[in-house]
Amino acid sequence: MRVNPREDQNTPGKSPKLTEVGDMAVPKSRITRSKRNMRRAHHALVAGNPSECPNCGELKRPHHVCAACGHYDGRQVVAIAEEIDLDEEDAA
Ligand SMILES: [Zn+2]
Repeated sequence: MRVNPREDQNTPGKSPKLTEVGDMAVPKSRITRSKRNMRRAHHALVAGNPSECPNCGELKRPHHVCAACGHYDGRQVVAIAEEIDLDEEDAA
């Protein structure tokens, strides 16, 4: 007969029913709609604050390299790849 390994670890005096349930955390009481909504009051998403790229005028995230032209702090930091020709492999 198979014996539940948990039952072997039962210490005397401890209710076996508690170990049958497991060690999972269980809420003591129901969260009301009010308390749930109070918790979620801080969950709103906030819109970004894009600024214009001084080089190309495209909207970019502040303190980030411009995705359109690769400029940051008045200089080119990321090379922008030219348009990829998908038919290139067929020609070669
Ligand atoms: Zn730019």
